[in-house]
Amino acid sequence: MTSTNTENTEAPIRVRIAPSPTGDPHVGTAYMGLLNLIYARQRNGKFVLRIEDTDRTRFVPTSEQMIFDSLHWLGLTWDEGPDVGGPFGPYRQSERTEIYRQHADILLANGTAYRCFCTPDELEAVRKQQLAAKLPPRYPGICRRLTPDQIATNEAAGKPYTIRLAVPPHGSDLTSSTTFRDELRGSITFEHGNVDDQVLIKSDGFPTYHLANVVDDHLMQITDVIRAEEWISSTPKHVLLYKAFGWQIPRFWHMPLLRNIDKSKISKRKNPVSLIYYRDSGYLPEAIINFLGLMGGGMPADFAGPDGVIEKFTLDEMVANFVFTDIRVGGPVFDLAKLKWLNGEYLRKLAPEDFFLAVRNRVFGDDYLRNIAALMQTRIETLTQFGDLTSFFFSDNVLPPADVWLPKKRTPEETLAFAQEQLAVLEAADWTHENLEPALKKLGEEKQWSVKENFMLLRAIITGSATSPPLLESMIVFGKARSLDRMRRFLEAQKKQANSKK
Ligand code: GLU
Repeated sequence: MTSTNTENTEAPIRVRIAPSPTGDPHVGTAYMGLLNLIYARQRNGKFVLRIEDTDRTRFVPTSEQMIFDSLHWLGLTWDEGPDVGGPFGPYRQSERTEIYRQHADILLANGTAYRCFCTPDELEAVRKQQLAAKLPPRYPGICRRLTPDQIATNEAAGKPYTIRLAVPPHGSDLTSSTTFRDELRGSITFEHGNVDDQVLIKSDGFPTYHLANVVDDHLMQITDVIRAEEWISSTPKHVLLYKAFGWQIPRFWHMPLLRNIDKSKISKRKNPVSLIYYRDSGYLPEAIINFLGLMGGGMPADFAGPDGVIEKFTLDEMVANFVFTDIRVGGPVFDLAKLKWLNGEYLRKLAPEDFFLAVRNRVFGDDYLRNIAALMQTRIETLTQFGDLTSFFFSDNVLPPADVWLPKKRTPEETLAFAQEQLAVLEAADWTHENLEPALKKLGEEKQWSVKENFMLLRAIITGSATSPPLLESMIVFGKARSLDRMRRFLEAQKKQANSKK
């Protein structure tokens, strides 16, 4: 089956970002937010923020507010969303589950979807067989062949079921593939042999991303889906869904994935990806917006703002000059050195008083100082000793020397391996004392590291020193994003040093 997207020139432009509240807000969300905002502003359109929170297993309650706060911090605003309302709400998918169920019923009725009664165990058995036969994991359509009587019997017996998309069978000539247009890449075709019968409604009644995303994009009258490249492989399923409903297909723009310096997909293993990290580490929102605007092109290569620095521009200048069709699809590198350079440029342009205020508010903010002071009151005898024990809270670089981080009875290799485990445990932990302490102790017991060794190593990494205010309290004040970054940088530095000795 082939299709081209219907030209949608008449409809007023509406775009959206659809972040999932699964943790710290990601730089990729800011990148998509920026591009969607520019696209809407250039075309007198509307920019919608929708929260895609149907995956309850990955849901993090604090995440939604962090997404709003960090995007606002960057100066990004949206016209409609859960926090600002709008005519197409609710804008939180968990409040729209009834809508998805009704829409799944439409597909069941017109035969483009079917009930699947296979149990998780049965599906697992199929998956294992396919794996053994070196076949790609795929639902083999067992329940697609159920007769109406069998379906009725299963339903009467109260058997739980999912609802799956009936992808037109491959091999039959007219329906063997789906083609859609990507505005940056041109026509893209997926053979149906490579498209699974996607689950649309899970057995708990919640929709999957695919169904909810398409239903909402349609009901919210989205004209242009501007999202990351990683969703290209989902798009044939979406196109099939639009067709199953008989809906107009939006334009798709898949933006290049941000990459680590080694060209792998940007990941927290190699780069800080949390917007909270950048905010708390002293980056200016203007610099981050500018930096994101450089990713993937779109601005004229030699563009310079009023102060004449090439590649330095504001959000307004982007709205005025950005050309979407000039975006390059080759993966742009999220190069921290470049971001730092830009940030320095912005810092230097601040009026002296504004620079002072930025330092005052961002490095020595009242709440931050208050929390640190609370840790110090019982520990010092003159006020100026405050700085001696707390400098790590205000420094960027605290790499401890080996005699501080290496426990007496341990080798560097086992110590660094243990530090890596600490990092994994802390990445997964909720950032509260009640969670951090048992999580670290459990790891120590498993790996036979004493509590003292365990905490001394972590203290060295976080504070750069063998003495500090209480460690876990300090880490809570210092924050998760910066603590984890400090650990990653420590491990990275040790790796580099070890390699240079080889
Ligand atoms: N919820 C998806 C995400 O977290 C949205 C992808 C899309 O824009 O379609 O990125």
